[in-house]
Amino acid sequence: MYNRISQLLKKTVTDELVTVEGWVRTKRESKTVCFLELNDGSSLKGLQAVIDLETFADKPLLAKISTGAAVSCQGKLIPSPGGKQAVELAVDSLTLHGEAPAESYPLQKKRHTLEYLREIAHLRPRTNTLGAVARVRHAVSYAIHTFFNERGFYYVHTPIISTADAEGAGEQFQVTTLDLNNVPLLEEGGVDFSKDFFGQKAALTVSGQLQGEAYALALKNIYTFGPTFRAENSNTRRHLSEFWMIEPEMAFCTLEGNMALAEEFLKYIFSYVLENCAEDMEFFSTWIEKGVAETLQKVIDSPFVEMSYTDAVTELIKNNAKFAFPVKWGSDLQTEHERFLTEEVHNGPVIVTDYPKEIKAFYMKLNPDEKTVRAMDVLVPRLGEIIGGSERESRLDLLTERMVTLGLKPEDYWWYLDLRRYGSVPHSGFGLGFDRAIQYITGIQNIRDVIPFPRAVKQADF
Ligand code: ATP
Ligand code: MN
Repeated sequence: MYNRISQLLKKTVTDELVTVEGWVRTKRESKTVCFLELNDGSSLKGLQAVIDLETFADKPLLAKISTGAAVSCQGKLIPSPGGKQAVELAVDSLTLHGEAPAESYPLQKKRHTLEYLREIAHLRPRTNTLGAVARVRHAVSYAIHTFFNERGFYYVHTPIISTADAEGAGEQFQVTTLDLNNVPLLEEGGVDFSKDFFGQKAALTVSGQLQGEAYALALKNIYTFGPTFRAENSNTRRHLSEFWMIEPEMAFCTLEGNMALAEEFLKYIFSYVLENCAEDMEFFSTWIEKGVAETLQKVIDSPFVEMSYTDAVTELIKNNAKFAFPVKWGSDLQTEHERFLTEEVHNGPVIVTDYPKEIKAFYMKLNPDEKTVRAMDVLVPRLGEIIGGSERESRLDLLTERMVTLGLKPEDYWWYLDLRRYGSVPHSGFGLGFDRAIQYITGIQNIRDVIPFPRAVKQADF
């Protein structure tokens, strides 16, 4: 059961019989031998199973085997004469579990476009690209948990159904059991949510941060790693309706500690994939995006440069002629500006800090200038922003004031404000969109191809 092809390929010849289970990628036949290339998802490379047609009796069985069939083969590993691989399997016996008729199997041996593969999302993990993505997603998840665990961070499961709108981050998906054909109304108009399942309006979470803060203010260092939902009606290559987000939060920590953690974190996970997914990364570098592994290596090797928003804008204004959207102090930075800072100005990762409060969320710590907040965006070459974070406003009066200015009702956030009322302390955190990070690591253009079953506008099949 635990014989995986990735392990067997590393072996030298053995005398014992091994059983290999997998799906046939290709079948080639000559007069005397039949070659099956088997893949079991454990590596890009398959294992070549060789059937000696002079001794193998069950020819009708072989005839039923084609690309996509599920088989198990028993035999011995022998040195492979071809030299393309060190070992191959000399098959003694073979079981065909499930056929994949060639007339209808949608994944014939040829290059399919990623667009086509999206239409067969249930079969696409059997391709090289999606298989490699799945392994990299797994490895990065594992690296993230390891990174935090080694540093004493606790993994907190924040709620998926939420009544707190974190920063109005995006359009929310409402969760309701009300009969949509007969919605209870208030006398003064509007929906009577007291009749709804939760007795109030509820939605799928857009971020676990606010609840994460509550746990940081008790366990000191925590992180969330969970699904996040945004009903963004934008059909882009970078937006999903359902994606995964990692949000560490640290108490007794100012923006300096936050920046240091973000840098260490990115370097750790990039190093982890380069070391542990070398074969898959080479595949991405060759077939998906030239040099993607070098881009990661460069981030690992570069010190992250810190730069204030004001300095960044000064630099950008000098180059305004180059941009589709010219910059002035107060504007939100677009990807073109972010990339200019990290690719042209610094030629390496940049952390931009202290953004104007108007373009950032209500919970960020106000600076003494009263114009900017203690925010940070981490920018990397080829992408722009990869991480966004801040030191949180830990002062009750300033936080309340800010909410009122923005038209948020402090009573709706009573419990969040309690965290400032009782045992408040400087604390900081950031968010990394997991699927965006996988896009960056693999070089895959469309975010729909780095998540198993993408949910996006008008897309929720499978
Ligand atoms: P964007 O400007 O790209 O829409 P955002 O400013 O809305 O991003 P945040 O609210 O800061 O993003 O969310 C934290 C992280 O979650 C982002 O840095 C990004 O990596 C990721 N993210 C945000 N929206 C999406 C989405 N719709 N699909 C996938 N990842 C997302
Ligand atoms: Mn957004």
